[in-house]
Amino acid sequence: MNFSILHEVRRILLILGISLLVSWQQQSLWPTTIALMIYLAFSTYQLMRINNWLLNYSKDWDPPEASGAWGDLFDNLYRLLRKENAQRETLTEIIKRTERSISALRDGVVILDRWQRMTNWNQAAASLLGLRRATDLRQPLTNLVRHPALLNYLREDDFTTSLTLPSPHATHVILEFSVTRFGAGEYLLLLRDVTQLHQLEQMRKDFVANVSHELKTPLTVLKGYLETLQEFHGGELPTLDKALEQMTQQSQRMQVLIDDLLLLARLESTPKLPAPQVITLKPLLLELWQEAQALAPEKTHQLNLHLPDNFSLKGNANELRSAFLNLLTNAIKYTPDQGCIQVFWQTTEHGGSLTFSDNGPGIAAHHLSRLTERFYRPDAGREQSSGGTGLGLAIVKHALIRHHAQLEIQSRLGNGSQFICHFPASCIQDNQ
Ligand code: ADP
Repeated sequence: MNFSILHEVRRILLILGISLLVSWQQQSLWPTTIALMIYLAFSTYQLMRINNWLLNYSKDWDPPEASGAWGDLFDNLYRLLRKENAQRETLTEIIKRTERSISALRDGVVILDRWQRMTNWNQAAASLLGLRRATDLRQPLTNLVRHPALLNYLREDDFTTSLTLPSPHATHVILEFSVTRFGAGEYLLLLRDVTQLHQLEQMRKDFVANVSHELKTPLTVLKGYLETLQEFHGGELPTLDKALEQMTQQSQRMQVLIDDLLLLARLESTPKLPAPQVITLKPLLLELWQEAQALAPEKTHQLNLHLPDNFSLKGNANELRSAFLNLLTNAIKYTPDQGCIQVFWQTTEHGGSLTFSDNGPGIAAHHLSRLTERFYRPDAGREQSSGGTGLGLAIVKHALIRHHAQLEIQSRLGNGSQFICHFPASCIQDNQ
């Protein structure tokens, strides 16, 4: 028991002792009753004082003076309140500093509750999205940014990538939306102005497309003259013959390169896929196999197709044709003679996959993640002699992205390669 309680107990015992002595002397219980009532009134008075102090508590108002256990109680309460006050002040300061640093950010920050309603934002977000507290607080984000891509992005709940959209406030401003989940199902939306980057990227795409387009006409003229020269020359000068042959080969290579660059530019710049067509895969793949084989007539490979005769996909026939032709051409090109190339379909939980597998030399693991980059070639010398452009897999990747499909590459040196096209359910024709 602590000292002040002991002191209070002693005081009660003393009052009780003296009052009982007086009661015994006077042969009456009144002195004890009166003494107890006085003690009760004193205690009630102290309770009222502390209650009054607590009700009107302010930081710089000291607690009422009292002795013994009451004094201790007042002091302890005072200390507790001061400690709590100090903690609250520290917390308020931390919150204010966080708010100040968030509002100083040049990137926009919007906090969304679990129903994706905007509950707070910083100054940058207000100017990037044109937000006004009076009207937009607690409004769903999708009411403000009315874009189907944002609806899908939030619905799919997979925030590993970001989304680029024009600002609803100023359509020439391009914003990058990145979402992170935090707390109890809330969302943190980060907004970045990527207008400049977007313009640069657009300039790069336009430049490549324009240059490729402009090169087409001079190249056609050159090829025409080369053919004429070859026809009229008649083989009198062997050195000239060799030069003409090499010039024809290089101009053909240039033609393929320009065609591939233009195709890539078209895949990147046409925002929407045209209305989907139903494509029966088996006849298409057999036709592409003939085409690809014609490019390497010196090789005899075996093709195994494992898919139902009437199996169909929904998509753009031209784009899927280019993707599959590139995969078959690569399989033929990089697999040594007498190789075995297999194409098979597998239905999966979320759609299905079409795999192009070969028993060629395979690709070292460290190249796999970069293979779909333009002009990336693990072995430039070998591939140049194979006549490729280094754009084939980039075309495959982009054609698949436009179908919401993905390319996966599996390979090990010496163990062949698998190029797997994962298609979503929306690409699969129902009545297979
Ligand atoms: P390229 O015109 O050089 O074939 P691609 O983009 O089609 O360009 O392919 C990029 C690189 O990937 C190729 O240069 C080659 O090294 C490698 N590659 C593609 N397909 C295969 C395959 N089936 N087997 C082995 N390597 C391959």
